Amino acid sequence: MPTFVYMTRCDGCGHCVDICPSDIMHIDPTYRRAYNIEPNMCWECYSCVKACPQNAIDCRGYADFAPMGHSVRALREEEKGTISWKIKFRDGREKNFVSPIRTTPWGSIKSAADYEAPSLDAMKSQELAHEPEALNIDVLPALTPDQLKLGVL
Ligand code: SF4
Ligand code: SF4
Repeated sequence: MPTFVYMTRCDGCGHCVDICPSDIMHIDPTYRRAYNIEPNMCWECYSCVKACPQNAIDCRGYADFAPMGHSVRALREEEKGTISWKIKFRDGREKNFVSPIRTTPWGSIKSAADYEAPSLDAMKSQELAHEPEALNIDVLPALTPDQLKLGVL
């Protein structure tokens, strides 16, 4: 379901360009509007759809597997702290639901350099950086040698 941009709504602010993890949202140098330069590489992550202040981006399904006539719309309302989803099926059914914005506030994420350097022993550990405390648990769940011998029943 690659994205496409409604040119008449886009004002060229570039938020979609900044947020796209696939780096495929670009600003057309002539028209100063955003467009998806490589739809095949779209992750369908909806980051750009939710970030666009003009609600100018939509995703559409490939005609060979997505039912024609359906749509998925996302509306981010910063002041309410919500993202509203409207799913329309081809048979006319509609599903609407609202989820909270869970994005970490801009500039509030610590960079890797802000954390204490790991000890050399950490290189031998199978845990990732800041595990398990960053997961709010004391110990990572793991199978005991006995369980490994028995297999998972
Ligand atoms: Fe990029 Fe995600 Fe938007 Fe696709 S849906 S263009 S991957 S931000
Ligand atoms: Fe256009 Fe929306 Fe992208 Fe801004 S975020 S450039 S308005 S499509």
